[in-house]
Amino acid sequence: MTDYKSLFTGRSDAPQAPASHLTPPKYRLLLVDDEPGIVNALRRVFRQENYEIVTANSGQDGLARLAEGPVQLVISDFMMPGMNGAQFLREVKQRSPDTIRIMLTGHANTDAVMGAINEGAVYKFILKPWNDDDLRVTVALALEQFDLITRNRALKTENAQKAKEISALSKLAATHRSRLGIMLHKKNLLSSAQLQELTLLQERRSEPMIALLLEKDWVEERKIRKLLTSDLLIEEVQLPEFAIDPVLTEIIPRSFCSRQLVVPLKLQGKHLMIAMADPLDEGLVDEVRFTAGLDLQIVTADVAAIRKKIEEVYGSGSDVDFKELETLIASPDPYEGIEIVIEDDDGARLEDLLRETEAPPAIRLANAIIIEAIRLGASDIHIQPRTKSVVVRYRIDGVLIDKIQIPHQQHQSLVSRLKIMSELDISERRHPQDGRITVKTPMRMVDLRISTLPTINGEKVVMRILDRNSAVHSLANLGFSPVDLPRVTDMVARPQGIILATGPTGSGKTTTLYSLLQHDATPDKNYVTIEDPVEYYLDMAGQVLVREKIGLTFPSVLRALLRQDPDVILLGEIRDFETAEVAFHAALTGHLVYSTLHTNSAVATIARLFDLGLKPYVVASALEGIIAQRLVRQVCPKCREAVAADPALRRRLGGDYAGIQQTFRGRGCTDCHGTGYKGRVALYEVLTMDDELRDCIGSGASVLEIRRKVRGKGLRGIGQHGLEKVQAGVTTLDEILRVLGPQAGESS
Ligand SMILES: [Zn+2]
Repeated sequence: MTDYKSLFTGRSDAPQAPASHLTPPKYRLLLVDDEPGIVNALRRVFRQENYEIVTANSGQDGLARLAEGPVQLVISDFMMPGMNGAQFLREVKQRSPDTIRIMLTGHANTDAVMGAINEGAVYKFILKPWNDDDLRVTVALALEQFDLITRNRALKTENAQKAKEISALSKLAATHRSRLGIMLHKKNLLSSAQLQELTLLQERRSEPMIALLLEKDWVEERKIRKLLTSDLLIEEVQLPEFAIDPVLTEIIPRSFCSRQLVVPLKLQGKHLMIAMADPLDEGLVDEVRFTAGLDLQIVTADVAAIRKKIEEVYGSGSDVDFKELETLIASPDPYEGIEIVIEDDDGARLEDLLRETEAPPAIRLANAIIIEAIRLGASDIHIQPRTKSVVVRYRIDGVLIDKIQIPHQQHQSLVSRLKIMSELDISERRHPQDGRITVKTPMRMVDLRISTLPTINGEKVVMRILDRNSAVHSLANLGFSPVDLPRVTDMVARPQGIILATGPTGSGKTTTLYSLLQHDATPDKNYVTIEDPVEYYLDMAGQVLVREKIGLTFPSVLRALLRQDPDVILLGEIRDFETAEVAFHAALTGHLVYSTLHTNSAVATIARLFDLGLKPYVVASALEGIIAQRLVRQVCPKCREAVAADPALRRRLGGDYAGIQQTFRGRGCTDCHGTGYKGRVALYEVLTMDDELRDCIGSGASVLEIRRKVRGKGLRGIGQHGLEKVQAGVTTLDEILRVLGPQAGESS
């Protein structure tokens, strides 16, 4: 059946949207297909949405619909008589470049479709038969993108306009001649020739007279300040004493301050106190008074002090600022976007999820933050509100770095967006929450673990990035010392028992365990992992995600799994007695168990197991070994150079480090983003059990006795492994100090 009416009006008799939609549709969608059945099926997909649907049965017809009124999104078939889908979408692009273009196609015609994609005629293609939910999500996200592009364009124009005004203002101000030169001339500190030269220079370079004067070095700055205070009674202030309200930075832009050498200090009612390097520049004073619309109280300070204060108040210029980020996120390539992978179990909330996403800039911002983090290889993203702005920090190779400043007004919508993505409650801002989400980027698929924490400045968000594609190192590549490697290999070869990796959060424990698990792994064994979150994906293992909220706790999952006859179990973490008890029980009943604990050293781990409530004989018989570890940053191999060891660092590290003469450092290059470090290596302490040690632990010896026994056996500590790595030029003394702390007075 052909809907003739729709051929002429683009509309059908069927109601476009349920009556519950009280607001008029915001988006007009054009569906083009020569088969009426497909058009109707597509229309059904969007029956819940508040879209105005227009249909057409050919490319020509579609163009006619487009001419009738703006269309935000078009979905077109490829194979159509007359104009095919690629040709049609190319036409659409030409006539209405902002319209989002989606092609629906069968598996055939790949080349034609790819051609259209490559030339930008197609935003996305969807294979027939489509999945209704996927299509709905795709369209909703695409429409957000449409809004975003439009808004960004407006924002860009606005920014450009502002920047123009400010730069015009700075130029204007600089053309007003300061009385400073004349005053210095009257005091016989400048000759007439010098004054004339200064005036000419100022006209040519449009820079403040004070800056030129100091550049010429004709009069000492100290002398100028003295004259200003004694003769003209202008107050000189000590800038470090002023705590500056961030709101002032919005009154006077940074570029103006830097250029004119002024800094706003205090605002009381209509009175602004401002420090000026040249308070005799009356033109400048007038301009500031005029732009700020405030009465000014002028004080003076050194040029250097003013520059320093500007840095402090407005932040250092090295960060990516918001404007740069705007350009970053305004890039028109839709393939830079990320897709949210919606997992099946919570399908019911899908529509809520889409309906709540009403702030598109936040979406693009969230995406840009995540993509940038992945590009830089960050492991964590912190979104931290501070008093003057919100800072986005990335943890790269274990070190947190401030990367992006975003304005406060973007904060709440950004946090809400991240919460929606991870299905958290957006209305709940006073209690911590945590959730997870899988995102697909053009680069890779990553799992994000997100947690929120209310702080006095607003909600702080921390995201942990878990790369689904990250490879597990082989045991030999983990970086164990030649002495430890065979001991670890032996430990892993045991058929049963428990092996623990210990260290603080982010010390690479799980990475180590996965390598151990994969070493000598054979298909005839049953491997399972129980984690929260799953950090690596292993085809050969059954992997279970712990979800405490729904009662899937470590011990409950472990108990259930033990009934499934596993051989090797990787248990994410032991943090309570119940988990410890089940894990050790499993280790005593024929399973090889790997797990982690948050302790600092091998012996401290044994003490911790006792504290948790395990019996000494259980620990003694089940435990096979403990690997305590830390991660240190690795010197960038591209820019590595030898330097003499810093005596102060040597002293603080003490012990074995005292004798070190030469160390290595990275000069900083493009490869390491100027940090001098690239990647990380682990420092290990490996404790393996023997009969003597088992007797000692099992007989209820004190931790002190155990420590003595272990030392007697020549356990090589983490510090010792660190020393080897420093000597080999792999890491630096600074890194050892950062990660292990001062070691002086401790024997290794
Ligand atoms: Zn480098």
